[in-house]
Amino acid sequence: MAMQEMLIWIAKASYFLAAVLFILGIKRMASPVTARKGIIQAGIGMVIATLATFAITGAHNIELIIAGIAIGVIPTWLWGKKVAMTDMPQMVALFNGMGGGSAAAIGAGELLKMSNPNSGEHALVTVSLAVLGALIGSVSMTGSIIAWAKLDGLMDKRFNFPGQQVFNFLVFAAALVAGIALIAWHVDPRLVVAFFALALLFGILMTLPIGGADMPVVISLFNALTGLAVAFEGYVMQIEALIIAGTVVGAAGTFLTQLMAKAMNRPISGVLFSNFGGGGSGEAIAGSQKPIEASDAASLLYMAEKVIIVPGYGMAVAQAQHKIWELTQALIKAGKEVKFAIHPVAGRMPGHMNVLLAEAGVPYDLIADMDDINPEFKTCDVSIVIGANDVVNPAAKTDKSSPIYGMPILNVVDSRQTIVIKRGKGTGFAGIENALFYADNTRLLYADGKEAANQLISELKGIEGGGGH
Ligand code: NDP
Repeated sequence: MAMQEMLIWIAKASYFLAAVLFILGIKRMASPVTARKGIIQAGIGMVIATLATFAITGAHNIELIIAGIAIGVIPTWLWGKKVAMTDMPQMVALFNGMGGGSAAAIGAGELLKMSNPNSGEHALVTVSLAVLGALIGSVSMTGSIIAWAKLDGLMDKRFNFPGQQVFNFLVFAAALVAGIALIAWHVDPRLVVAFFALALLFGILMTLPIGGADMPVVISLFNALTGLAVAFEGYVMQIEALIIAGTVVGAAGTFLTQLMAKAMNRPISGVLFSNFGGGGSGEAIAGSQKPIEASDAASLLYMAEKVIIVPGYGMAVAQAQHKIWELTQALIKAGKEVKFAIHPVAGRMPGHMNVLLAEAGVPYDLIADMDDINPEFKTCDVSIVIGANDVVNPAAKTDKSSPIYGMPILNVVDSRQTIVIKRGKGTGFAGIENALFYADNTRLLYADGKEAANQLISELKGIEGGGGH
């Protein structure tokens, strides 16, 4: 018995250690230089917390727990090892949804236990938090699954029907009413089932119309919600590690959501309860796209003094970051001033471009955020847009009917010359045309990003070898 008590004491103390590791880990994730260590640290914290929970629960149902861990760990380990960098955002969305689903499952288990007439009295705060955690976790789970399907291209990004907002509101209100009834009236199993059905349905409905440019905000919001749900259910089960881990994720996710919403110029309420970023395809664009050969593009670069490179999702698809860094070094060697302009939602996850450029070894002082670099486009001789589309689309400023209207963009359109590298006439995530590609001073270098960067490097070498123009 004394041994058992001692074990529980050690396990509870380990939760504190795990919490410290989570917080230090998150702090380290703030910079690409220390992020890898931060992730390992937080992972060690998670292993400690899991082992401690084994000790505290006295390893009841050990076979079931081990089977659950095996089902969770083995496929995700294998998948995580081979997932392409471009598929990472979908994977993160799905894993986040699983976190929300786990919190909802804990809530379901606890509520069904409470519905047993022999289970005794339950504190109001415990029932309330079980219900709240279940509601938030369910919404986060189904919402994240829809976000995954949209990011993976399995679903149409914009899905609207007449009266959608009213219908969504009614479903949300019904879920709330069922939740309040569970808290204030009686934990009835049939009501528990109805409550979950409504909450799960709301997660789907709420995410269906979100497309355009709001997806990053909503993904980050689901992440914050999952954290909150986990913290609430941690309170219900009296597991400190869940409360701490959930609160850390909830707080970090909330900050990220606010930052993303601010960067996108979207009120969070607008993302949630309206079709912001949903319908519409914007005004038609007159004119034509003007192609350029790599040799001519290299000449433009050779003559330029200041070059700004704008990477986007296509750079990730092409895995062109290493070649782009090689091109940058060639330009710097030829005496050009070169900078990278990073839009906060370029790519498919927050920090996507920063991660790729860091991986390629681009020094941080060459990388500038949107607000800092935007005034510099006016003095830039040539901008190279590689695989970016929505984040450089001037319609966000000029066309009220555009689904991305209001989103801040990189002012590439102000540069003296623009070279856009893309494979063809494909649209970006928002699925709309881009007036920048039709501008008089824009030239399209149609190629895969890596191939184009390679061509530019060898053409530049050729020009330099030949003594320039
Ligand atoms: P976009 O998705 O707008 O555009 C990508 C462009 O890259 C396409 O037009 C495509 O054209 C081109 N492309 C694709 N593959 C290649 C390739 N191999 N080589 C060269 N070009 C290629 O990207 P942006 O980064 O500009 O914008 C990000 C969008 O994603 C925004 O709308 C944002 O809201 C959304 N989003 C962002 C998230 C985040 O957290 N960052 C999360 C979810 C969504 P083509 O087919 O002709 O080659």
